Amino acid sequence: MSAILISPLDDPYNDIGATVVFAPSILHAAAEFTDELAFFEFSHRPEWDKYEATGFTCQAMVEEGWTVPCRFCEQDVNDEYDRDGELRDPTEPVYDKRNAYCSQQCKDAQAAVWHEYAKRKALTSAVAIVLFGPDIDITYASGSSRSGWCKCKQEPHLSGMVEFRFPGSKGKVNGCPHCRQFGVTRRDLAAWKTWRKLPQAD
Ligand SMILES: [Zn+2]
Ligand SMILES: [Zn+2]
Repeated sequence: MSAILISPLDDPYNDIGATVVFAPSILHAAAEFTDELAFFEFSHRPEWDKYEATGFTCQAMVEEGWTVPCRFCEQDVNDEYDRDGELRDPTEPVYDKRNAYCSQQCKDAQAAVWHEYAKRKALTSAVAIVLFGPDIDITYASGSSRSGWCKCKQEPHLSGMVEFRFPGSKGKVNGCPHCRQFGVTRRDLAAWKTWRKLPQAD
């Protein structure tokens, strides 16, 4: 298999938006991207063929000098300068399956952020179950984002939206169990009122 570099035609020297795929030939690679043919350039890069087994991972990209942002601090892991333009200590990039980090420190910091998200998710789901009972089917709980209409937006420790189905629903209800703001779609309104034992007339 050959390493085929697919890069945007309008900016061929920029890594952002470029990708490497492995295919028997440029034509094979192009066949997978027929919708994008007008915007991208395809070229075989034999020096990267060796990455076929591992894939062109973050680590491979960094080793090949691509601009790869740290998953935690978002600076280019190869950058010699920090955001303020100061020369920074040479970094020793570290990796996990999908991400690159400028250092073990950034990797640990990101792990802590994810741990915090996981805790918030669990809390958000737990509060929703306290509010609505065990019959709801939680399809999503967020550990980070919040909606514009959430009244507890200013309290980051409570952040988290939840999305769930309820007995009789066609779609999903979403909202914030902390400030108890919920959105029910029009087509589920009657089922919601029945389930919540609310008067049907509005
Ligand atoms: Zn970093
Ligand atoms: Zn809220």
